[in-house]
This record gives sequence, C-alpha cells and structure tokens, in this order.
Amino acid sequence: MEVFYVDSRAVVLEPDKWYQPKLSLVSKLRRLIDESGILDEIEKGDLVAVKTHFGDRGTTKTLRSVYIRTVVEKVIEAGGKPFVTETTGLGMIRPRCTALGRLEIAEENGYTQQTLKAPIIIADGLLGLDFVEVPIEGKYLKKVYVAKAIAEADAVVFCTHFKLHMQSGIGGSIKNVGVGCVAKPSKFDLHAKGFPRIIAERCTKCGKCVEICPVNAILNYQIVEEKCLRCTGCAEVCKEDAIQIDWLLGREVSDRIVECASGVAKVARKFAFLNFILDVTPHCDCHPYSDNSLISDIGILASKDMVSIDRASFDLYKKSQPISDLLSKERVWQWTDPESMLSYAEELGLGKQEYKLTKVE
Ligand code: SF4
Ligand code: SF4
Repeated sequence: MEVFYVDSRAVVLEPDKWYQPKLSLVSKLRRLIDESGILDEIEKGDLVAVKTHFGDRGTTKTLRSVYIRTVVEKVIEAGGKPFVTETTGLGMIRPRCTALGRLEIAEENGYTQQTLKAPIIIADGLLGLDFVEVPIEGKYLKKVYVAKAIAEADAVVFCTHFKLHMQSGIGGSIKNVGVGCVAKPSKFDLHAKGFPRIIAERCTKCGKCVEICPVNAILNYQIVEEKCLRCTGCAEVCKEDAIQIDWLLGREVSDRIVECASGVAKVARKFAFLNFILDVTPHCDCHPYSDNSLISDIGILASKDMVSIDRASFDLYKKSQPISDLLSKERVWQWTDPESMLSYAEELGLGKQEYKLTKVE
C-alpha cells in the first residue's frame, strides 16, 4: 500500500527567507493529509474517533496537542464530527485506569477540549469495562473486547507516536489498534494468561479485593472465573501479594496484540493512520516518564494500511542514525520481535508489508 510522508527538517537555504510558515510540521501535516487522501472516505455527519495516547502522569514525550488539533480540523473540513479518544489502562486505582483519571492526566499533558477543538471521550467507559465482544479465530484468543466508542464510531483516525515498546518491540499503529482500542478484559488477555488467582496460604482475608471488584467476582476469597472481567483491581489492592497473575513477555504478547487488532478491524468501518516518528523513546507512552530520544526526528507518515505504515516506519527507524546507545545494537528490546509482529499482522489480513513511500513537500 502507499505510504506518504513529510520530513520534519525545516531547511532554510537563503538567510533572508527564514520566515516560512510552510516549513512548520503543522503545515506539512495538513498537506500530508490532503495529498495522501487518508480522510477521503469520511462522509458528512460521520462520527470520527481520533485515537491517540495521552501518556501517563509524568510522560513528557507524547504527541503535541497541536498535531491532534490539526487532524481534528481536517476531519471537520471533511464533514466528519470528531471526538478525541483513548482507553483506560489495566487496574482500578492508578489514575489512568479510570476515565476520570485519564481525563485528569490528559489535561495535565495538554489535551483538553480547548486545545484539541473536539470533545474527549474515553472509549471504554468510566471503568474501562464498556465493550463490544467480537469473536475471532486467533492462535491464542477467541474473543476481543473492543472499546464501545471505537465500535460505534463511523471512522477512526489513528494519531500514533511511533516509539519502541518493551512488549511489542515497536509501538506503532498496529499497537495503537490492538492495545489502544480494547477494554480491560482484552488488555489483560494480551498481557497475561488465564485469570488472576488467590493464593490461599498468603491471603489474610482482609476483604480489600472483594471491596474493589466491580463485578462481585470474589466469593469466599476465591475468584469466580465466569464473573471475572480481568481488570486486575484485586491484585492492585492486595498488600499480601496473594493474587497471582501469569504475565507474558515477548513474542506471545505481540501476537496477542495483533489478534486484538484483528478484532477491532472486524467492527471498525473506516481507518486512517498517521505515525509521528518524533521523540522516538525506548519506552511506550504508558510509562510515567520519558527517556532520551534514540534517533533524530524523522517526520510524519500517513496511510490507510496499518501494516504498511508500521513496516515503513520501522524501516526508516532502522536506517536512521542513532543519537543514543540506550539499547543494544539490534536497536529494539532484545526479547521482542517486531518482524514477527508485522508478519503475523499480514497473515491475519490487517494489511501488507509491501509499500511505496511517497514524499510530500
Ligand atoms: S486483598 Fe489479598 S489478602 Fe486481602 S482478601 Fe484479597 S487476596 Fe486476601
Ligand atoms: S476478580 Fe476479576 S473482575 Fe474482580 S477485581 Fe479481580 S480481576 Fe477484576
């Protein structure tokens, strides 16, 4: 598929021609959206989710709000009704695990209705438990819990901060779809196996887990699997480390992310993708801090294909000159395999790895 891009460099060749607003990455983003045609399918009155990542409290290298605002303006120009959206994280206590906490963090990090020119709606509801169940035939997963507002939107425009990721190797559009558009039960299913379990020998029967469970799934200090929605709130409150979760790492996580993305793709109607290869940090924006950038900024990519755009972004990343040796010479986390994630995404029909890269001036 075609992938379009704009370069983040602002080259001034003559000293008296420095005042050129068209060199702004915001102006370039507008031209990128126009020339790539990624919003062409939006029709008058479409409800358009602009999906991004607000970061956690303390994350400092999320996308600048002006980029999201520009995308919002373009959606309005195309006739759509935009809302900016994000989902909650696993757990029940930390601020980003509920819609109210998520909105507080969004405001702290500069994302408000005023800065974005569109309302912010947390796609998986107040507690991250509003979803639509979508059956799939994955190697690991048979059901994906798609965040309700994503499933109900007519179109989704992904504004993804491209960076590295400790679980999937790269954090690009596929990850924004597979992790960012699902509610808590799927967030659990892509990070862990089975269900949380209470270890009787460690449990002091303090009752804190019973109190926090949103669906009354703990009876006689045992978790009833048929009721449990895998929010991990119980494990978060337990001070005795009595709740065991079998966390996963590496390739199985990225395969599960791809499977979740395939569930989202089954219900979402129109997709457009923007990868911002700026401030490429070693960690995901869900960390409550940001590290140094690993490479110089590259620019912004646009495509209608989530696999092509991630393939192209990863290729550009690998070809770039490192400015930091924070990671190994392979330049991704050693236990991850972005290549297998891209191949599996292609195998599941999410897009093509083959792409044509076209520069927009
Ligand atoms: S919070 Fe932990 S110690 Fe307390 S009842 Fe639940 S499992 Fe037992
Ligand atoms: S038992 Fe399940 S639903 Fe209840 S708090 Fe624990 S993980 Fe969440």
